[in-house]
Formats: sequence, C-alpha cells, structure tokens
Amino acid sequence: MASKSQHNAPKVKSPNGKAGSQGQWGRAWEVDWFSLASIIFLLLFAPFIVYYFIMACDQYSCSLTAPALDIATGHASLADIWAKTPPVTAKAAQLYALWVSFQGYLFPTSAEDCKFTGNFFYNYMMGIEFNPRIGKWFDFKLFFNGRPGIVAWTLINLSFAAKQQELYGHVTNSMILVNVLQAIYVLDFFWNETWYLKTIDICHDHFGWYLGWGDCVWLPYLYTLQGLYLVYHPVQLSTPNALGILLLGLVGYYIFRMTNHQKDLFRRTDGRCLIWGKKPKAIECSYTSADGLKHHSKLLVSGFWGVARHFNYTGDLMGSLAYCLACGGGHLLPYFYIIYMTILLTHRCLRDEHRCANKYGRDWERYTAAVPYRLLPGIF
Ligand code: NDP
Repeated sequence: MASKSQHNAPKVKSPNGKAGSQGQWGRAWEVDWFSLASIIFLLLFAPFIVYYFIMACDQYSCSLTAPALDIATGHASLADIWAKTPPVTAKAAQLYALWVSFQGYLFPTSAEDCKFTGNFFYNYMMGIEFNPRIGKWFDFKLFFNGRPGIVAWTLINLSFAAKQQELYGHVTNSMILVNVLQAIYVLDFFWNETWYLKTIDICHDHFGWYLGWGDCVWLPYLYTLQGLYLVYHPVQLSTPNALGILLLGLVGYYIFRMTNHQKDLFRRTDGRCLIWGKKPKAIECSYTSADGLKHHSKLLVSGFWGVARHFNYTGDLMGSLAYCLACGGGHLLPYFYIIYMTILLTHRCLRDEHRCANKYGRDWERYTAAVPYRLLPGIF
C-alpha cells in the first residue's frame, strides 16, 4: 500500500527550469504538531522510563506493577523510593548543563552543515550539526554510535552472567542464550563497521539528544534488561525451548545480515553482482538535490529487497523477540525490548519511506508498486 506521503512529492524545478514531480532531497523540514508532541513526550518520559525500569529491578525484583501498587496502596511513598536511588551529584549536573549549552550549537565545526528547523525542541532532540568534530580525529556521531553504548552492552551482559554465577553457583541456559545472541549482534557491528557508515544514523541523522543520550543511557540500560532480569529470575529453559529460541535468533540474525549485505553489495558494485545466484533486478531512479543538481540511483528489487521493503528490520525484530522469549513468561519487563524495537523500527520504516518518497518522487511509487509490503509480505 502506498503511503500518503508518497503522493506528496514536491514539485521542483529541474536544472533545465522545467517543473515536474521529480523527487527532491534536502534538509528542509517543517515540524508538524505530531512530531513536536512526540519529541516533547520523549524528552520528558524517556529518562523516566529508564529510571522506572532500573528502579523496579533494583527495589522490586523487576516487577513493573509493584512500585505503582505500593504507592497507590500507601505501602511506600515516592520519597521512600527516591531515598533508595543513587543521588544526582553536582558534578554530573554541571557536566550535563555544559553539554546541553554547547552541543554543536555555539562552535559548529562546519556552519554550512547545521540544520535549524525553527523549533527549539526538535533542534535539541534531533541535533543541529550533521558531523560535529573536535579537530580531524574525533567525530562525535561516530564515537557515540560506535563505542560507549555498544561496547557496554556486551560488558554489562557478561557482568550479569558473572552475578548469576556468584548468586546461584551456575549460569542458566537462558542467560547464555541472551549473552550469545546479543554478542553476535554486537560483534557483527564491529565486523561490518564500514557497512554501518552507510546506515541512516550516520548518513542522514544530525547529532543531538536522540543519538547522544540514546547511545549513552538508553542503550546500555534498556538493551541489557534481559540479563538484569535473569539475575533476579534465573530461568532454566527446557532443551526444546532453548533450541527453538536459538533457531529464531539465528534465523533473524541471518535475515538481518543478508538483507543488509545484499543492499551493500548491490550499491557497492553498482549492480554488477549476483544475488541469490542471479543478476539483480533494480528500478532506476533519480532525484534533485537542493542545489538543483540531478542525480541517479537504483533501488534493488531482488533477493530480500524483493520480499519486503525493509526485511532487514524484520530480521532484527525476530532476533529481538528471541532475546525476550529466553526470559520465559513470568514478567512483562524483559519484553520491553521487542515492544520498543517494534515501535522504533516501524517508525523508522515510515520515516525512511517519507524521506525516500520525497527524494525519488514517482520513481519511489514505481518501487512500492513492485515491492508492495514494508515488513511482512501480505500483512504490512
Ligand atoms: P536501511 O539500511 O534499510 O537503509 C535505508 C536506506 O536504504 C533508504 O533510505 C535508501 O537510501 C536505501 N534503500 C531503500 N530501499 C532500497 C533498495 N530497495 N535498494 C537500495 N537501496 C535502498 O536502514 P537503517 O540504516 O535504518 O538500518 C540498517 C540496519 O540497522 C537495519 O538492519 C536495522 O534493523 C538496524 N538498526 C538497528 C537498531 C537497533 O537499535 N538495534 C536501530 C536502527 C537500525 P538512499 O537514499 O541511499 O536510496
């Protein structure tokens, strides 16, 4: 089904001066009320969500309802819960204030790469400068995307396995599954780091709170929730269940990796490659950049890219579900990851398609006609 935005590709003037419905690509972005409301909601509630989840594990053995029930029934007050929380230090508050005041805003590395939408909250959340740097050697976006959070993910998981060993004298098969499946994902990131430079985060997103806070707080705290949960609830899966979950995780990873690999190979070789043993089919497309220049590109319709328009996200979601299933069915908390990833990747898919529809115009419509589904053939 073609999305509404696909019919709204802007009419632009091509270099020869003729108007057409050729897609145009640029940084201009009018912040609509829904995006603004979502941004303010996220800025306020994302830190609260992280706090609530970690507090629920620390003080209530990972029950999400127990803290709220305790407060509602008068068994605990907000002050009681807050008193058991590690305090905010003056130094941390100073560092944060400094970061917020200077983030890319006052001393941009490349002033021409700054995007101001006219909306303070959007600028803060999605970033102003495209590639803020210190000198030539330190790129903020690359560093934050590719180092602290993703490295911490594996190290924190390993420390949870060590904690299980310390508490119970053994490590459960569910903890091993979570550690192995998530470590594969992280190792894949480092193994294919050059591929990663072509993802939306690096190619299109500006550096702001979304990437900085997301990589330093959201990722290490919330992507490791399964391991944390298993410290409090050491689930030992039956062998068939463990094997089924392992299979789901590995098939998901295979789809994720192969789909990304097929696009990378296709783009790198300009289509001079084999996909599933055959010469790939593609849709020729063009777009006009904001400087008025016309460019050519190709959209792959073979391999996994012919199955659905974002089958790489589907593989990622299968892997995410496997991590959660490893924790059994006792509590909702470890399932937060699959709920979050479904929202993140569905929104990302729509955001990306909105951008592609504006970029490629009618060519994008030809592509969506050739590959009609986004994530699941026949369903969505
Ligand atoms: P993609 O790698 O799918 O890139 C989308 C871009 O690819 C489009 O903007 C378009 O760019 C191009 N494109 C779209 N369709 C085609 C096609 N048929 N043929 C060739 N090029 C096409 O998106 P992401 O960068 O979001 O995701 C990369 C991976 O990272 C995914 O597997 C995702 O699951 C994963 N991911 C994981 C996250 C996590 O927290 N675990 C978070 C985000 C992503 P162009 O303008 O060049 O045409």
